[in-house]
Amino acid sequence: MKSRIGPNGVHIFDRHSGLNVLLDELCPNEAFWSKSPRQVSIALTNVCDLHCGYCYAPKHRASLRTDQVLDWLKELDAEGCLGIGFGGGEPTLHPDFVNICKRAAAETQLAVTFTTHGHRLSPQLVQRLKGAIHFVCVSVDGVGRTYEQQRGKQFASLLRGIESIATLSPFGINVVVNERTVLELDAISELATKVGASELLLLPQQATAVVTNMDGVVGRALQDWVSNYGGKVRLAVSEAGASGLPTCDPLPNELGLRAYAHIDASGILRTSSYAPVGAMIGGAGVMSAFKKIRNILKIKRETQV
Ligand code: SF4
Repeated sequence: MKSRIGPNGVHIFDRHSGLNVLLDELCPNEAFWSKSPRQVSIALTNVCDLHCGYCYAPKHRASLRTDQVLDWLKELDAEGCLGIGFGGGEPTLHPDFVNICKRAAAETQLAVTFTTHGHRLSPQLVQRLKGAIHFVCVSVDGVGRTYEQQRGKQFASLLRGIESIATLSPFGINVVVNERTVLELDAISELATKVGASELLLLPQQATAVVTNMDGVVGRALQDWVSNYGGKVRLAVSEAGASGLPTCDPLPNELGLRAYAHIDASGILRTSSYAPVGAMIGGAGVMSAFKKIRNILKIKRETQV
């Protein structure tokens, strides 16, 4: 069990069961609030073997070193972070992926999670990761032919990957919602139930050099679908583009940098993976980069007034 002190009270979290308990009758003084965001995503590498049009990962080759990642994780852990999510690119393509996950689980109290396209999760890789992973997010954009057109990979291969992942840890399904996938949300929800996913996370498509933001028509179809959702799998919508839908962020007083931050594969800390502004994490460590970002945001706010 790990505890985190913040504006909502004392948050107790068990990375093995995923249990969250918020003692909101406690009102800790601000001086004691945890300084780290609750959750940090880390792009271990920009490398990926797929070429999805809506991919927002930078395309230059960059990967983080094991020692720097472990140093940052220990700092975040000590400052009250509850979990880290490895991503990319495709994190399983980082040459030291298994070792990083194992050391993260053994040397910190953080929940260790990762997001994957699922095609590399062979039973052998899953075997090596056992005991080091607390949750996995698998990207499933449509079913059958739609999936194959969106991701350029066989749907049958994805299903084999999901079957392996199900033996590793609890897992969720992430869906980029666009004009194609919004029509398949029922089928994806049925798949999520069938394969034993514990969460269905909807990610409204964000603009890249190749695709536009999810448009208003798709947005309304998504709103309707969410309003009528009666599936068994827990549903959440990513903050980016959620526009009033129930999001995956449960603590209203713990938004922005208190809730979440992203470290890209070049070692730049950002408020999100889409954020244009960031601070390079230097020798002074990750918490020092947080201070820099907070100052940048403060200056921006002041100059906008
Ligand atoms: S699988 Fe993920 S990282 Fe790879 S190209 Fe597609 S969206 Fe980008």
